[in-house]
Amino acid sequence: MSRSAVVIGASMAGMLAAAALSRVVGTVTVLERDHLPTSPQARKGLPQGRHAHILLPSGRDAIEDLVPDGGVRKRLLAAGAREMALTSGLVTLGPEGWYRRWRHASYPLIVCSRDLMDATVRDAVLGSTGVQIRPAQAIGLLGTAQRVTGVRVAVDGQEEDLFADLVVDASGRGSRLEHWLAELGIAGVPTDEVDSGLVYASRIYRTPEGAEAFPLTQVTADPFAAQPGRSALLMPIEGGRWLVSLGGTRGGEPTADSEDFVRFALGLRHPIIGRLISRAEPLTDVTLSRSTRNERRYFEKAKVWPEGVVALGDAVATYNPVYGQGMSVAALGAQALSRELAKTGITAPGLSRRVQRAAARVVNAAWTMSTSQDQWFPGVRGKSPTAADRILTGYTRRMTRVATSSYRVTAAMCRVTTLQGDALRLLHPALLLATLNGPVLPPLSGPPLTAEERAVLRSLTAPPA
Ligand SMILES: Cc1cc2nc3c(=O)[nH]c(=O)nc-3n(C[C@H](O)[C@H](O)[C@H](O)COP(=O)(O)OP(=O)(O)OC[C@H]3O[C@@H](n4cnc5c(N)ncnc54)[C@H](O)[C@@H]3O)c2cc1C
Repeated sequence: MSRSAVVIGASMAGMLAAAALSRVVGTVTVLERDHLPTSPQARKGLPQGRHAHILLPSGRDAIEDLVPDGGVRKRLLAAGAREMALTSGLVTLGPEGWYRRWRHASYPLIVCSRDLMDATVRDAVLGSTGVQIRPAQAIGLLGTAQRVTGVRVAVDGQEEDLFADLVVDASGRGSRLEHWLAELGIAGVPTDEVDSGLVYASRIYRTPEGAEAFPLTQVTADPFAAQPGRSALLMPIEGGRWLVSLGGTRGGEPTADSEDFVRFALGLRHPIIGRLISRAEPLTDVTLSRSTRNERRYFEKAKVWPEGVVALGDAVATYNPVYGQGMSVAALGAQALSRELAKTGITAPGLSRRVQRAAARVVNAAWTMSTSQDQWFPGVRGKSPTAADRILTGYTRRMTRVATSSYRVTAAMCRVTTLQGDALRLLHPALLLATLNGPVLPPLSGPPLTAEERAVLRSLTAPPA
């Protein structure tokens, strides 16, 4: 008998979950309430698309694995996305100083607009699988506390019941799953929230002539400075543009005022990004986002979990976006679904519980990384450091300082921050020793730019008023 699955949401988690399901299920329908553009364009259901998005290598690999005939990486690069390797292709001021750009460290990030990423993944899945998208809004679940049997949808003002063997909720941070489960009699899903009050402000500029090869540049916030964390990221995106995103935690927020934008970037721990954009031509207004909380629903810990439903992506957890994890966690979650389906098929008892637990392991890594930093910002809500946090943070801060001068330590940390390795590996005796010994080179006194990049920066810097 042909099986069917319904996925709610046609963004990163939804399209990749659909690709995973299409390997074992006859009919996969993705429900999307938003109007989906046919080319890379902003859409209402993806407001975060106006802000800088980086795809980690773990996310890239998961996408290639889930959509092997989709050629996502190739299509992105052909459309103007760039691959920029950690650390050679980035200029980064971290909390403990400037990172050196090691030529042999290779953790390639994919850098492009989120709209291009969204359209490319969607096209690749639709073009290489039998997945169908149906314009409809999911408004509830069908079934009982023991088994979900489908979704109630609203289409053009009419309600309809759609039955399926498996429902995947990939409807993002605004997911109503908790509420829908409560309607079936399942309550008490544990939740958690760590909120630094971060505000993102983003603006697109035309890349100034001569600056086309300038690397991705970031000045990160220092969570340990006992003042609001303020940061900026400048990333080259397709179409000869720079997408610049500023961030400020509670008490240090950027505003939507375009006059403030360059001022904010110039006032950071280093003014490099402010200098790069001070005379650049803005192509958009400033857009703000306050959707930056670390917020988690521990579905895997619910006492009762019905067969026939799983949640993936932002519907499970969201993170402070500066760590660039959400899309990759969504892709890795879809990969967890794919693995469980391959092991047991779609009708095996306990499948949804196993998928939820497997997806939670990826979430744990991203959650720990994000919240263990955010808890240090002044005015943070939801978590304050324990004695154990203080010891661990002392160690990771020292390791981060060592990483600014050591390829081996940088590479080990990159593996973890790009979600490719277990954080416990950072306690390996060789790394412990390197950390205890301290930095082997003096700190850099300024951004590690090549002679050409320095010349570009000089040429772009406005003369003082
Ligand atoms: C400012 C900002 C910057 C970010 N930067 C990064 C970054 O650098 N790197 C990174 O990896 N991540 C980043 N993220 C996180 C990333 O955007 C999300 O993790 C990612 O989009 C999650 O994908 P998703 O498919 O789970 O949800 P979403 O992308 O939110 O998609 C949900 C989809 O479901 C649809 N939908 C919702 N409800 C319904 C319904 N009832 N019926 C039908 N359809 C519905 C929506 O229209 C939408 O298409 C950032 C987030 C923000 C806010």
